[in-house]
Amino acid sequence: MASQPQSDSVKVAVNVRPLITPELVLGCTDCVTVTPGEPQVQIGPHVFTYDHVYGSTGSSSSLIFEQCVYPLVDSLFCGYNTTVLAYGQTGSGKTYTMGTNYSGESNCGGIIPQVMETIFKKADAMKGDTEFLIRVSFIEIFKEEVFDLLDDPGSVAKAAAPARVPIQIRETANGSITLAGVTEAEVKSKEEMALHLARGSLSRATGSTNMNSQSSRSHAIFTISIEQKRTSSSASEKSTSNEYDILSSKFHLVDLAGIHINRGLLALGNVISALGDEKKRKEGAFVPYRDSKLTRLLQDSLGGNSKTVMIACISPADSNAEETINTLKYANRAR
Ligand code: ADP
Ligand code: MG
Repeated sequence: MASQPQSDSVKVAVNVRPLITPELVLGCTDCVTVTPGEPQVQIGPHVFTYDHVYGSTGSSSSLIFEQCVYPLVDSLFCGYNTTVLAYGQTGSGKTYTMGTNYSGESNCGGIIPQVMETIFKKADAMKGDTEFLIRVSFIEIFKEEVFDLLDDPGSVAKAAAPARVPIQIRETANGSITLAGVTEAEVKSKEEMALHLARGSLSRATGSTNMNSQSSRSHAIFTISIEQKRTSSSASEKSTSNEYDILSSKFHLVDLAGIHINRGLLALGNVISALGDEKKRKEGAFVPYRDSKLTRLLQDSLGGNSKTVMIACISPADSNAEETINTLKYANRAR
C-alpha cells in the first residue's frame, strides 16, 4: 500500500437539494445561494467554502459520483480503506444522495448503486489475473450500541420483537477493526449486493417502534469488503516467492444520524478535524477514536491509508435555515 499525502485523505462536499413539494406547499423560499463556478455556499451573511458544492440543478448525483466517489473506488482497488459519510438534518437528502433505498431494479442514481456497479465492472475487467472475494455487511449504531442489520432472526421471532443483541468491536493485532460475529455476506453481483442493502434497510426501519425517530438517531453503515488475490501469473512479477498476494480493503457507506446532539457526531467532528490539522498531525497528536462507537468502528478507515469524503446534505428552505447553518458549520470544521 502506498502512503498518500494526508491533505488528500478527507474531502468535504455539500449537496443542496431542491425545494420539495411539502416545502413549496408551505410557501418556503430558497435561502441558499451557490456561488457560480465556486465550491461556495451563502446563507444570509454566512459564506462557506468546501472542496465541492453541488447545487439543485438536477445532474448533481452523477457529478458527485464522478468527482467525489469514483476516485475512492479506484483507491479501494489499490488497497485503501475508503468512506463516504452523508451528514445533515432529517429530510435534507442523505438517503436520496447515498441511494440507500436502492432495490436493484432501476438505477436511482444515488452513490451506493453506482459504487456497486463500478466495483463489479472493475473486478470483471481484472478477472484474468485476479480473484475477488466481495462481501457486504450492514450495521447500525443506536445509542452507542452496534446492531447487525443483516442478522435475520426469522419471521416468527420477529413477530415477537426480540431484543436485538449488540455486537462488539474488536481491534486485531495489526490494527484493523472487526465486528465480532457480524454477518458478512459474500456477493457475486451488484443485484445480490442490492438485495442485502434492501434487506438491511428494511430491518433498520422495522427494528424500532418509531421508525422516523430511529433512523434519525442512528448511524447506518453499509460496508463492502474486497479481497483481491493475485493469481501466480501476475504474482511472478513480484520479488516475493509467495504464490498468492492478498490485498484487503473496505468501503464504508455511512448514513449518519440526522440530529445534532449525538456522541458519534461530536466524536467524528473531533477526529476529522484532528486528522485535518497538518501541524498537529506532524506532532503525532492524539486522535480521539475511542470517544464513540462510530469513530472506533471507522478507526482503520479514517487517517493512515484511507480516503474519506463527507457529503453535507442541506435543504434550501428558509424554514430550515438554522439547522442548515449548523450543518454547514459542522462540515466546515471537517476541512
Ligand atoms: P434524509 O435521508 O436526509 O432524511 P431524504 O433523502 O429522505 O432525506 O430526502 C427527503 C426528501 O427530499 C425525499 O422526499 C427525497 O425524495 C427528496 N429529495 C432529497 N434530495 C433530493 C434531490 N436532490 N432532488 C429531488 N428530491 C430530493
Ligand atoms: Mg434518510
